[in-house]
Amino acid sequence: MKRLFDKSQKRHLYIAADGKCEQCSAPLEDEWDAHHVVRYADDGITEVTNALALCKACHRKIHRGKNNVKTKRLAGRCNQQIS
Ligand SMILES: [Zn+2]
Ligand SMILES: [Zn+2]
Repeated sequence: MKRLFDKSQKRHLYIAADGKCEQCSAPLEDEWDAHHVVRYADDGITEVTNALALCKACHRKIHRGKNNVKTKRLAGRCNQQIS
């Protein structure tokens, strides 16, 4: 399975996140990351249902370990149709 989110997945995430970082609500600039909620190394899938749109700063913090990610919005996201 591929490891990186592709363009359309990132677009989907961006819209689902309302253009904001899902951790700190800062507006997402050109540079932001799609984060695997369940790590790829732990069999996390590369799908929008397992991803969060995060600004670079939050993404770094999460990977440093202390920060809990909000996941409540993840439920039901796959039903969204984005053309
Ligand atoms: Zn952030
Ligand atoms: Zn990550």
